[in-house]
Amino acid sequence: MVVAESKPIGEILEMIKDCKKVLVAGCKGCVTVCNSGGEKEVGILASELRIARKTSGNDLEVLEYTCERQCDPEYIEPLDDLVKEVDAVVSIACSVGPQYIAARYPYLPVYPGLNTVFIGGSVEHGVFKEYCQACGSCIIGDFGGLCPVARCAKQLMNGPCGGSSGGKCEVGRGEIDCVWHLIYERLKNLGQLHKLEEPWGYKNWATSREAGPRTMIREELRK
Ligand code: SF4
Ligand code: SF4
Repeated sequence: MVVAESKPIGEILEMIKDCKKVLVAGCKGCVTVCNSGGEKEVGILASELRIARKTSGNDLEVLEYTCERQCDPEYIEPLDDLVKEVDAVVSIACSVGPQYIAARYPYLPVYPGLNTVFIGGSVEHGVFKEYCQACGSCIIGDFGGLCPVARCAKQLMNGPCGGSSGGKCEVGRGEIDCVWHLIYERLKNLGQLHKLEEPWGYKNWATSREAGPRTMIREELRK
């Protein structure tokens, strides 16, 4: 899932300081799962904004709505009537959401209420880790199902650097697993250590973000 976290409330208040009425728009997708942008968080942020503005003697009216998803135009449509009443939208979806809202309502200011952090998952309650950088050409099949692109600080493709120690990465004060240690152990368990005996080859970066914004077309879905 896309993992995102709340922006500091002061940052959001600054963005909407000239508004009298805003819509806080959440999303029932990934950001609900990571507890940053679902229905509950919409209610909390709306209350925080109202209280902060009341305290400063400058009342703010806040509407609340949580979309099924904000990364799909048809699910943004329910905002059509609500946005007529407001000066701005604060989107607490991942950063795709505010951009879709901006595209649908060209004359309405839209502000992000979250910082989108990475593609990852939950490892324990309240702890999320990065597992993928969406490189567009997945190679983990060669590495026991583990990703050296997202999980090695140096994106090494042919084994660990000299800083791998006791299974930990030298980057991150010893708190992060060295993915190359994990890859080695995993391939050993799978009886596939021979995969590490030859240089791996090259990573196709042409599909990565460095080549500019990407588009994926599924022709079979377009028929
Ligand atoms: S190889 Fe690329 S697509 Fe596969 S998990 Fe790593 S970053 Fe994601
Ligand atoms: S210690 Fe391991 S994870 Fe960290 S940079 Fe070196 S090879 Fe990559």
